[in-house]
Amino acid sequence: MSRPVTILGAGLVGSLLSVILRKKGYDVTIYERRPDMRSATIAAGRSINLAMSTRGWKALEIAGLRSEMEQIAIPMYGRFLHMADGQTATQPYGKNNEAIYSVSRGDLNKKLMTLAEHEGVHIEFEHRCAKVDVAKNHVTFQLPDGTEKAVDADLLFGADGAFSALRSSYTTMERVNSAQTYLEYGYKELAILPGADGKWVMEKNALHIWPRGKYMMIALPNTDGTFTCTLFMPFEGENSFAGLQTKEEVTAFFNLHFADAVPLMPTLLEDFFANPTASLITTHVFPWHFGDKSALIGDAAHAIVPFYGQGMNAGFEDCSVLDALIDEYKDDWATILKEYEHKRKPNGDAVAQLALLNFVEMRDKVADPVFLQRKQVEKELGRRYPQQFISVYEMVSFSHTPYNVAMQCIQNQDALLQRIMSEGDFLQNVEHAEFNEKLDSWMTQYYQSVQQLGGK
Ligand SMILES: Cc1cc2nc3c(=O)[nH]c(=O)nc-3n(C[C@H](O)[C@H](O)[C@H](O)COP(=O)(O)OP(=O)(O)OC[C@H]3O[C@@H](n4cnc5c(N)ncnc54)[C@H](O)[C@@H]3O)c2cc1C
Repeated sequence: MSRPVTILGAGLVGSLLSVILRKKGYDVTIYERRPDMRSATIAAGRSINLAMSTRGWKALEIAGLRSEMEQIAIPMYGRFLHMADGQTATQPYGKNNEAIYSVSRGDLNKKLMTLAEHEGVHIEFEHRCAKVDVAKNHVTFQLPDGTEKAVDADLLFGADGAFSALRSSYTTMERVNSAQTYLEYGYKELAILPGADGKWVMEKNALHIWPRGKYMMIALPNTDGTFTCTLFMPFEGENSFAGLQTKEEVTAFFNLHFADAVPLMPTLLEDFFANPTASLITTHVFPWHFGDKSALIGDAAHAIVPFYGQGMNAGFEDCSVLDALIDEYKDDWATILKEYEHKRKPNGDAVAQLALLNFVEMRDKVADPVFLQRKQVEKELGRRYPQQFISVYEMVSFSHTPYNVAMQCIQNQDALLQRIMSEGDFLQNVEHAEFNEKLDSWMTQYYQSVQQLGGK
């Protein structure tokens, strides 16, 4: 008989995991700290979106929610850059018109919860996990009236996000490594509103970026004609949140640095002062599981900064990996959880690093002429050697290549690109047979090195 499963957190990952386990016949109960977000008593608010890519779609397919979500997902085929001098440029994400997809976080979470309940998952709202006695799997919840409730879990998953109570409880045990690092940057969500016709006022099928070196703003489209903008900036110092305290300071800053966006943001001042300035954290913990009793999943195991658009995708991939391991090892949870940790921990570490690297790329490098040249070369290599050359971005966003393999490929790709670019103008060079011979041999060497790492 299958063991009953307790999940902490009905966020994106906890809800998805519950559906996957329920489909395999497990009895699942989720305990969620917040009230039910589907209830009418909670204000709807503006749509906050997330970028979904290949890894996320795969897990939604396992859960049976892919086609429904595809109806309300907006494809973004590349970056749309708004330069400081007012010029714009586009950079496609893939060589075959691949896209990442803007989806509403709220809609996705609500649909996952509803599907979970439809499948027979029981969700207890307003149950905040205060602590877990990890050895005994004894969970203590705090209820809104201040009372406590105790639950003895059989098999327990902590899907309770970046500040996971299960993760904190793990750290009270012997020989548990854990670390958390805050970025010196914060973020604030703002909005671009639809035009008079109710339609999008900028290119809808792109992820917009205003790269400004040490800070940036991005915008993703929503189905209602709005864009959700996110301003990422240092908390302190020059061009920081600390320097934007008054309406006059905010107006002057935006007029100077994001002039083309200002006319599209009629609620800028209202949004700026109403919305919080939130912090960005990366967490690491090891181990990720305790015997055959409990495990961490999603942000609870690996909270990362949002710059690769991979946090949810990585958490969803945790779920698909677990799904495959359950098929392989049936009810042998000691092996399933050990293998899950073995497969996913290196990937959690790698995606955390990839996300930090992509911040520098988005806010700074995308506006750098050498970087733009490199992108041209990458595109041409992808066209000429489609089997051998897949950019790291494509590996991360459009494939199931493990994140740790993609991470290791960065060095190999850097070496290849440096070699090619040190020879001068690539597009002219490839007109000559002699250069092409060299290029063929470099590509063969490169491909072998990537294959050795486990990449495609
Ligand atoms: C600004 C920003 C932009 C992002 N953009 C993207 C993107 O484009 N693409 C992408 O893939 N990822 C993105 N992410 C990351 C993504 O939001 C997270 O990786 C994802 O939400 C993780 O899901 P989760 O279910 O693990 O955690 P969460 O979404 O945090 O859910 C955790 C749940 O547990 C509940 N909970 C917390 N504590 C307790 C407790 N003690 N007891 C009971 N319940 C509890 C919470 O209420 C919540 O419902 C972004 C993150 C940020 C901050």
